[in-house]
Amino acid sequence: MEREFYVDSLRKSSFKITPQRLTVIDYVRDHSPGHFTAEKIFNAIKEDEPTITLATVYNILKALQSAGTLKSLELNGTTWFETNTRFHANFLCTVCGNIYDMDIDEDSLLRSIDVDGNMIEQASVILKGVCRECRRK
Ligand SMILES: [Zn+2]
Ligand SMILES: [Zn+2]
Repeated sequence: MEREFYVDSLRKSSFKITPQRLTVIDYVRDHSPGHFTAEKIFNAIKEDEPTITLATVYNILKALQSAGTLKSLELNGTTWFETNTRFHANFLCTVCGNIYDMDIDEDSLLRSIDVDGNMIEQASVILKGVCRECRRK
């Protein structure tokens, strides 16, 4: 995605575009497709942006999420953000800690569930295991 794509979505959420926010946007863009926590980004950019705070990074990610540019997921008690906004399963490797996207058909998943009269409004799929790279070792 282009930088403009992220900048536009921040503008739509009435966020002013500041150099700090652009640094976060550039990190997201450079690591797309990917999964990241606010802390991970904060640690990666704090040398270049000494006045930025973790809360600022988190707020920018939240704004990008509410604009539909990023999705978030809860994993091991931490909020992760990701650039892949299509429905997919997230596979966490318990050895290296990497998160991999896996394609899954949302319709067939929902059809396979016995909803028993309940109404599902949102689904997220998290899988855990050992990734291909770690299995080779
Ligand atoms: Zn792994
Ligand atoms: Zn993902």
